[in-house]
Order: sequence, then structure tokens, then C-alpha cells
Amino acid sequence: HRAKKNNQNYLFYSTEMNRSSLEKIKLEAELHHALNLNQFELYFQPQVDFPSKKIMGAEALIRWQHPLKGMISPANFIPFAEETGLIVAIGSWVLNEAISQIAEWKKAGLSLDRLAVNLSVMQFNPQLPEEIAALLTHHKIPAELVELELTESLLMGNGQSNVLNQLHSNGFSLALDDFGTGYSNLAYLQNYPIDYLKIDQSFVQSLPDNLHSAAIVRSIIDIANNLGLKLIAEGVENQSQAEYLSNLGCNLIQGYYYYRPMSAADFTQLLITQQSEITKSA
Ligand code: C2E
Ligand code: MG
Ligand code: MG
Ligand code: MG
Repeated sequence: HRAKKNNQNYLFYSTEMNRSSLEKIKLEAELHHALNLNQFELYFQPQVDFPSKKIMGAEALIRWQHPLKGMISPANFIPFAEETGLIVAIGSWVLNEAISQIAEWKKAGLSLDRLAVNLSVMQFNPQLPEEIAALLTHHKIPAELVELELTESLLMGNGQSNVLNQLHSNGFSLALDDFGTGYSNLAYLQNYPIDYLKIDQSFVQSLPDNLHSAAIVRSIIDIANNLGLKLIAEGVENQSQAEYLSNLGCNLIQGYYYYRPMSAADFTQLLITQQSEITKSA
């Protein structure tokens, strides 16, 4: 009886394992497909000055428009794309799409000071600066309009400092995403050419009442001020969070309080509206 049960368990686990590796193979093929069939789309989330509401920049965030499953969030496929290496091809698509979108806005006479693009560790090969430079030349866009978002895990690798220094001296600004959640070795901030710290939303969301979050946020702002880094707060959902951050000197706000990520068409409309308001008041 026992042996039989074990046997069944064995079969159960083995089909379970097969199914999951089969599913992985399917997902990998679907991601390949998505790339070829142009199923990815960039959304844009404005970064806003508090309290003037002026749009200072935006972050490009990928979405997968699946023909059957609808819109899939990056949290559900980026980690897998990183695991399989597909992130390199997807990341190149993102860079091209982001930079051609900047060119489109420029052509339409709309101004956006910075568009931030997320980069995965795997994309940091020695060819990356050249790859991005070629895209900029092709679309006639200055590097100053592009911000590259990195995570702390990238800075742990030793080989990255040349690539980062090169990107920075080419004119890109560099932002450290999700700051405070990774292996925050503060020496990295001194050794790498970082321009912005993005305060992670997990700290922002429990402001101002949670004393621990408040203390962490104050410390991050202190570090940034002492090292001459600029700040962006991510995940701001209400006025009191924005006010708390602004009182401490962080006036650049990204979060649902102002805008959720939106399609290129919606973001274009927003830029048109803002520009016409500025013209009217001038
Ligand atoms: P992230 O780079 O930290 O991006 C910020 C995430 O926070 C976005 O989620 C955004 O929609 C969300 N967010 C912004 N404001 C609020 C808020 O007020 N409340 C809440 N609850 N959430 C807010 P999203 O778009 O789902 O992206 C998730 C993550 O996927 C990103 O986190 C980034 O790590 C990754 N990702 C997105 N696009 C790309 C990409 O093109 N390439 C790579 N490598 N990673 C990407
Ligand atoms: Mg980001
Ligand atoms: Mg973040
Ligand atoms: Mg994140």
C-alpha cells in the first residue's frame, strides 16, 4: 500500500515537474512571439513637481498586450525574461521604442525634459553604450533626454563601472531605482556616477504615520542631500505623503496621486494640454 502511494506521489510530482517546465517552455515561446508580433507596449507615468503640478519627466513601463489574456503586468513576465535571458532582446525593444517616442514628441513640438527607462543587469554588456548611441543618432535625440534606471544589484557587479562611467559621460542621467530595498552599500553611491535616488514605494506608502518608514525616508533624503544627488519619490498616493516629502526637500513625485501609467496616446494628450496651459499663462 505504502509503495503504491509512494509510486503515485512520484508520478504526481513528476507530471507536476513536467508541467511546470513545459509551461516555462511555452511562456518562453510566447514571449519570443510577443516580441515578433509587436505585442509589447510602453506606458508612461509622469514625474510631477509638487506643488506646481508641472510634469518634469516620465518613466517608461512595459506592458504585454496578450491577445487572449489581456494586459499583462511586467511583474508577471520581466523576472522570467531575466531568468531566460530574453530580457536582453526585450530591453533593446524598450530602448528603441522609448527613444523613437521621444523623437515623435519632439517632432510634434511637445517638450519632455527626461524619459526614464528601466534596465536589467543583463543588459549591461560593454556594447550597451554603443547600442544606445546608435539609437540616439538614428532618432536625432540628445542623451540628456534619457534617464537610465538601475537597481542596486547592478552596482554589486565589478565589471559595470566602465559601462556606467561611459554612459554618464555620454550625457545620460542615471537613477538608482527602488532605493533602500537592495544591498544598499553606501560606498556605491560614492564610486558610481549616480544622479538620482528613487525612494522606493514601500517606504513612501506608509508615510507619514509609520515612524520607521518616516525615519528611513528622512535618512535617504539626508544621504541624497549630503552627496548632491537628486530625489524622486515613487508610489505617492495622497496629498499628505506628497507634503511630507516636499517638506523634507523631495519635490519630484511619481505616483497614483497625480497619474497612473498611461498609454502613449494619453500621455501625448497630457503634454499637449500642459503646453497649451503654459502658452496661455505666458
Ligand atoms: P519600477 O521600475 O519600480 O516601476 C514603478 C512601479 O510602481 C510601476 O509598476 C508603477 O506602475 C508602480 N507605481 C507607480 N506609482 C504607484 C503608486 O502610487 N501606487 C502603486 N501601488 N504603484 C505605483 P509596473 O509598471 O507594474 O512595473 C513593475 C516593475 O516592472 C518596475 O518597477 C520595473 O522593475 C519592471 N519594469 C517595468 N518596465 C520595465 C522595462 O521596460 N524593463 C525592465 N527591465 N523592467 C521593467
Ligand atoms: Mg523604475
Ligand atoms: Mg521603483
Ligand atoms: Mg520596483
